[in-house]
Amino acid sequence: MNNNSANGLRTIRPNDPEYSAASACKNSRIRKHPSEIIFCTSEQDVLQAMHYVVSHELPFVIRSGGHSYEGYSLIDDGVVVDLSEMSSISVDAKGKIASVQSGASLQKLQAELAKHNLALPAGTCNTVGIAGITLGGGYGLISRKHGLTVDKLKSVRLLLDYSKFEEVSPLHHDDLFWACTGGGGGNFSVASEFSFQCVDASPAISFRLDWSSNQMRCAVNAWQNWAPFVDERLTSLLIIATQGKHKVYCIGLFLGGKSELKSLTKTLIEACSPPPTLTLDQHSILDASIQHNVSRVGAEDIGVEGRFSLNFQDGVSRFKNTSDFIANALPANCLDTINHFWNTPPPGQAILQFDAYGGAINAVGTDKTAFPHRGNTLFSIQYQTYWEREKDDAQCIEWIRALRTAMQPFVRGDTYVNYCDADLTDYEKRYFSSNLDRLREIKQKYDPKNFFRFPQSIRT
Ligand SMILES: Cc1cc2nc3c(=O)[nH]c(=O)nc-3n(C[C@H](O)[C@H](O)[C@H](O)COP(=O)(O)OP(=O)(O)OC[C@H]3O[C@@H](n4cnc5c(N)ncnc54)[C@H](O)[C@@H]3O)c2cc1C
Repeated sequence: MNNNSANGLRTIRPNDPEYSAASACKNSRIRKHPSEIIFCTSEQDVLQAMHYVVSHELPFVIRSGGHSYEGYSLIDDGVVVDLSEMSSISVDAKGKIASVQSGASLQKLQAELAKHNLALPAGTCNTVGIAGITLGGGYGLISRKHGLTVDKLKSVRLLLDYSKFEEVSPLHHDDLFWACTGGGGGNFSVASEFSFQCVDASPAISFRLDWSSNQMRCAVNAWQNWAPFVDERLTSLLIIATQGKHKVYCIGLFLGGKSELKSLTKTLIEACSPPPTLTLDQHSILDASIQHNVSRVGAEDIGVEGRFSLNFQDGVSRFKNTSDFIANALPANCLDTINHFWNTPPPGQAILQFDAYGGAINAVGTDKTAFPHRGNTLFSIQYQTYWEREKDDAQCIEWIRALRTAMQPFVRGDTYVNYCDADLTDYEKRYFSSNLDRLREIKQKYDPKNFFRFPQSIRT
């Protein structure tokens, strides 16, 4: 191993023709200029890259899927250790266990699992990386039935003492394993591989309900009193969107049959007059195509996941997102606030996305995993804006900031680390709540030199 460089590893530097693409952020609002991007294809490569940065005390970050909202897997004047090319997956079909390298995307994982009639609760966007989503929690459209991604985590291969990989599990370094169940990516170590207990894929139906835009208040009211409490086989998102036209709709996935779904959605459908239109799409097994179809059901002209996929492929979307958790149903004056912002949107597209909690997510204790946002959580709200032109940055960002501020009287005060927001100065408390002190102790124990740091890392 060469102490002076990451010799032999594919490394891209500012003068290389591939630099612009290799250093681009998925969020084109953010532009960072790393001094080197080192691509690893094995644990041995990661060891070599880490030896290089640690022995030279070079600032660095780890990158897997590259979807950090605030570009925390990029760095100015430092090294990006990239694991995106480590993406192999092996499945023990009998034990229903998947071993997944950090660079695998959710699409690759779900497609591989589908071959074995298996599934894993994880995100609704196919291009997200398994490493980042797992280390922060992992919410998706089967979560009310099967929990978060971390609830299925069995073990992780992690860099220890900055110098060797070991399997960390509830039996070996249980404290560090616990920190990997929601303590956030980039805080403690490098993960090279995850092992998950998968679930059986079940027949599923994706659905969509569309209200007319003047029914927004009624739709929110009906959804918030229904979605967190309905049969846990049903997970749904409510979307309030604007891009020229105002839209209010619900997309969801039900792990069961059509007639049962119709009866479960009856209360929601009948709450507003005239009732919303219902679109159903049946699937034989829960596989990657379902994730895709759910996206399509929600996409149409301005849908949330469709837009993500579209713009992430083109790499053109500037965005600013943030989020809150809700423990008490939103009162009428909160809906007035939402209505006000909805009617004074920024340029581009604005979305409020409500993710239903309850069911298996809340059944796990708030300190059982490092993901603390359980207990009485009804849903999370993600405030999002997407736009194309740099000149609109200030207006779009200001709109999100003003909306989040106006919502504070109605929310619990915690925020999902995977929907990170650089504006949060009290980010540790918001991301980790009552689990923060324990996470700090673990950080001190396993990263005593605080090598793993970025603008919103856990402080020692
Ligand atoms: C379009 C889109 C859709 C999304 N949908 C969902 C969703 O449905 N549900 C949900 O829960 N979340 C969702 N997210 C949020 C997503 O979970 C986070 O952005 C997540 O951190 C992305 O992981 P990544 O590996 O792709 O990103 P990266 O940017 O590579 O990493 C994110 C963070 O983890 C660190 N990290 C990366 N790899 C490693 C590693 N191997 N070891 C240690 N630290 C590492 C990075 O340094 C960075 O701090 C979505 C995000 C986007 C952009």
